[in-house]
Amino acid sequence: MSYDLIVIGSGPGGYVCAIRAAQLGLKTAIVEKRKTYGGTCLNIGCIPSKALLHASEMFEEVAHGLGKLGVSVGKPKLDLPAMMKHKDDTVGANVQGVAFLLKKNKVDGFIGTGSIPAVGKVEVTAEDGAKQVLETKNIVIATGSDVAQLPGVTIDEQVVVSSTGALELPKVPGKLIVVGAGVIGLELGSVWRRLGAEVTVVEFLDRILPGLDLETCKQFQRLLEKQGVKFQLGAKVSSVENTGKGAKVTIEPAAGGAASTLDADVVLVAIGRRPYTQGLGLEALGVALERGQIVIDSHFATNVPGVYAIGDVVRGPMLAHKAEDEGIAIAEILAGQHGHVNYEVIPGVVYTSPEIACVGATEEDLKARGVAYKAGKFPFTANGRARAANHTDGFVKVLADATTDRVLGVHILGHGAGEMIAEAAVLMEFGGSSEDLARTCHAHPTMSEAVKEAALAVEKRAIHM
Ligand SMILES: Cc1cc2nc3c(=O)[nH]c(=O)nc-3n(C[C@H](O)[C@H](O)[C@H](O)COP(=O)(O)OP(=O)(O)OC[C@H]3O[C@@H](n4cnc5c(N)ncnc54)[C@H](O)[C@@H]3O)c2cc1C
Repeated sequence: MSYDLIVIGSGPGGYVCAIRAAQLGLKTAIVEKRKTYGGTCLNIGCIPSKALLHASEMFEEVAHGLGKLGVSVGKPKLDLPAMMKHKDDTVGANVQGVAFLLKKNKVDGFIGTGSIPAVGKVEVTAEDGAKQVLETKNIVIATGSDVAQLPGVTIDEQVVVSSTGALELPKVPGKLIVVGAGVIGLELGSVWRRLGAEVTVVEFLDRILPGLDLETCKQFQRLLEKQGVKFQLGAKVSSVENTGKGAKVTIEPAAGGAASTLDADVVLVAIGRRPYTQGLGLEALGVALERGQIVIDSHFATNVPGVYAIGDVVRGPMLAHKAEDEGIAIAEILAGQHGHVNYEVIPGVVYTSPEIACVGATEEDLKARGVAYKAGKFPFTANGRARAANHTDGFVKVLADATTDRVLGVHILGHGAGEMIAEAAVLMEFGGSSEDLARTCHAHPTMSEAVKEAALAVEKRAIHM
């Protein structure tokens, strides 16, 4: 069988690439080693975690939020199997949706592990060991990433779990230790804290969510602490002993000093993810790697002709929408068009309560680059809709170039931040200014009026503050 394009890996990078290529008339196939399409994101990442985040937020809202609104329903009862079923059903509907879309777009699907024995060839090895070789003009590697391991710590997915195990716990742990204060650790830590676990987050650095706007993260940490999450920052987990019933976790100050121990029922290792290139045959093919990532040029091409790579397996933020946009761009390039990804405008969201959403530069980035900027900030305490809904935690911060007023970054801490950030991304994609944002009519009463007010605050003319 001969194709114009074979995509290896069906995560958001791979399946979106395959669909776009097929739309553009390329004869396309996709190879996936899992039984279902959709990759990490749909099977064990974005989608199941958001199903549990939503359900657990509802649980907490009923327990602590509704009474204040005059809705008295009594103490909620957790039905964990039903919550897990909601998660599994959500995953099922999404992965089936991808299978349907691939079929609708006439993308041939092959379930099996893909490898590249030579340029223009993809070998697919099925679970039973049966092999077939497909011919193709182009190959896009979209094999994603896997959990980064903590040296000396064995993940058994029972007591010591990765994010995958943390999405499947059969009961609420009494004590959960989360190693790593990144997005995944804080999201899944929030899920189990809301359902009743005592959660301690241990982080090597002296701050949470490295890379995100520091002021936003500091306020967010205070809010998480108010919710009951404990933090040990500047501390490293040096060993995890599985005691059979639980774990004994040894923690040392990152700067050196006396170690201490904590007991836990479950330990979640969430120290990051690493690119997944195992079994592709890249070494024999001569594909260049750097720190585990496949090296690509600005057109996603590796150093081997006809072989391209996108998504978590290459440089850049490990985010589903970044992978999707790269999938579209490479499909368009292969079809003779001018696909392009604007890496300056890739939003990031932490789906906790409240959410954090950001796009563009942080204040720390701008200071490091020596860019003169103005900041406008507006708190949700001064927003009518936020007051009406009891969602007054957080703020919006708009960072604009001091000379041109072009918006360089927007950071939102607040309920629904993940939805509100989209307008900032559109504005930035069009090179918009804080003036443009401030003069755009926003519906009243909405949380997003705080975005407009923060834009007004750049020139110190916010109305409601
Ligand atoms: C718990 C969790 C929550 C997350 N939440 C979010 C979120 O809210 N928002 C967000 O943007 N991102 C989130 N992410 C990150 C997101 O899942 C990834 O950035 C995204 O899935 C990357 O897409 P991808 O297409 O590059 O790779 P993946 O989604 O990892 O897909 C790669 C696919 O390739 C397959 N594969 C690998 N090797 C082979 C081979 N040799 N042959 C055939 N198939 C192969 C794998 O089985 C996999 O299905 C989350 C991740 C986790 C773990």
